[in-house]
Order: sequence, then structure tokens, then C-alpha cells
Amino acid sequence: MNIILLGAQGSGKGTQAQLLKEKYALVHLSTGDLLREAATKDEQIRKQMAEGKLVSDEQMIALIKAKLASETKGAIFDGYPRTLGQAEALDEITQIDGVIELKLTDEEALKRLSSRRTCKNCKAIYGAENPPKKQGKCDKCNGEIYQREDDKPEAIKKKAGSLS
Ligand SMILES: [Zn+2]
Repeated sequence: MNIILLGAQGSGKGTQAQLLKEKYALVHLSTGDLLREAATKDEQIRKQMAEGKLVSDEQMIALIKAKLASETKGAIFDGYPRTLGQAEALDEITQIDGVIELKLTDEEALKRLSSRRTCKNCKAIYGAENPPKKQGKCDKCNGEIYQREDDKPEAIKKKAGSLS
């Protein structure tokens, strides 16, 4: 089963991807991770990334194809496809069973983002729906949990304002 997951920053995409991944034993396919992984093995891609050049649609689809070949259950596509061309290319190499779009109002997004806390040590992320078991302490490493500057309401509003 292959699912495309869409949603803006603060929509809870990461959390939903994690849940879907666990429930259906899917691989979470983020193109960023895929590229970083490819750069460790592929000289051409490493060079392009080092020079700040974009990877072409053809290169990306080849990486996805290779990744899917090693997965039997399917994948959650996160942050891909972004264009119609990419969507068509993806449709040619695999079957897409569903597209999930997470929609929420600006107010909800702001509330979610401003409830986000990050572990200083291992960078684990906590929020309203997945609070740490012990307040202020990371479940994974017992590190200190804090609110990043850019997750503070003022910073988020400023960011949103600069976009409109
Ligand atoms: Zn931690």
C-alpha cells in the first residue's frame, strides 16, 4: 500500500506518518532522507548537493524506484510529489492507493506549533498529543525538553506574516 501524505507545517504530518508507518509496516519515504542516503553512495548526487544544485525529477524517481524495490509493504510519501510531473512519474513506477491531506485552520496550526517542544539532547519532538511521560524530560534519553525560539507564538506569527 502506498500513501501520499500532504499537509502544511504544524498540521501534524510527522505524527500521522509515524502512526501510519507503525500500523501498516510502511516505510516513511521522505525525499530529504532519501537524498542524504543517496549522497553517501552516489558520487554524482553528492557533487550536485555539495554545489547546491537540484536533483532532477528523473534522478529522484530513480532513487524512489530503488527504495520501493527493497520494500514489500509499501510507503508513505512525505513531501513528494510536489508537481504534476512528479506525480505522473510516481504513478508510472508504482500504484498509489490513497492521498491523505491534513487540513487545519491557521489558528489550530498556531496552537499546535506553539505546543511543540524539542529535546535539547536527541532532538525528539513532543506536542499536545504526544507529551513526554515525565514533564520536561525526554522519554528517549531523559534530556531536557525546551521550546525552540522559532516555535514560540511570536516567531510563528512573524513567519506567517512574512509569507502573506
Ligand atoms: Zn532526548
